[in-house]
Amino acid sequence: MNPKKRIAIVGSFSTGKTTLAEAAAPKLGLPLLPEVAREIVDLGFKLDKDATVEVETLIFLRQYHNEMTHPEFVGDRSLVDVMAYASWVLENQDRRKEFALWETCLGIAKHHLRSQYSHVFYLPVEFEIVPDGLRPMDPDFQADIDRRMVHLLGDLEKGVNVPHLGRFAATAYLASIGMSPDEIMALFAKAKDFRADLTRYQVEHITGKTSGTKYTPPNCATMLTYGLCCQRVKEVECRDHGRDGRCQEAWLKHPLSYYRSKIRAEKKKSDSKTRSRAPAENAQKSVEPDESREP
Ligand code: SF4
Repeated sequence: MNPKKRIAIVGSFSTGKTTLAEAAAPKLGLPLLPEVAREIVDLGFKLDKDATVEVETLIFLRQYHNEMTHPEFVGDRSLVDVMAYASWVLENQDRRKEFALWETCLGIAKHHLRSQYSHVFYLPVEFEIVPDGLRPMDPDFQADIDRRMVHLLGDLEKGVNVPHLGRFAATAYLASIGMSPDEIMALFAKAKDFRADLTRYQVEHITGKTSGTKYTPPNCATMLTYGLCCQRVKEVECRDHGRDGRCQEAWLKHPLSYYRSKIRAEKKKSDSKTRSRAPAENAQKSVEPDESREP
């Protein structure tokens, strides 16, 4: 793991990255790397669906330069974000010789990306798009960029230590089923690389204590992409979660649905046990007065 704090906050547009980055940087005492795309718009270039491969190359180089000239930082976006947008542009435009510019950037990314960040925080799409004068009011495009981002992160995760995505999912899941930040902290405290200050900051942010937003855990499809689902990847043995076959059912799309379904089934089982025990207990009760009347 990179010992320096090189923190990337990634995700599609309008997911709260700037808010989180601006809050985290001063708390952690790290410089904030602002979103490069804003500088590019100020220079008069168009973004997103109207961007060209030259613009994507310029954004990549500026982002790369910013990250290389800061030993530590909190980044409002990252090279992963730049690559997600660029992949959309490349797929939706006819190939020109200038595409070679971008292919050179990809070569740099392949070489450096894995060691570039110490922590990567992914923010999923959870809110309606807030107009910022920069990004389009287009939920389909927002979702498309999100999918590309998740895919890139999945690739990245295969080669890098990105347990933070797992921690995000675990924290959001545990909070959603009613555990307090302190209870969640106590669970993480058992991990070898536990750091109380950083973990408390992450847990309190994700559970909404300091951010005002209680994050929901990722759905099963996203968990699978991260390599975090232990039931739909056959080689990985899961200790107990899902041995009942729920995870193989098409209706199961979210870990919280698994939890609720399991709770309902357990309740039904205990209710029916109580009902079947009731006649015997009544019979027992009806005997007791007779016994007490014995001389
Ligand atoms: S609930 Fe089951 S299918 Fe969904 S992520 Fe968890 S283990 Fe995988």
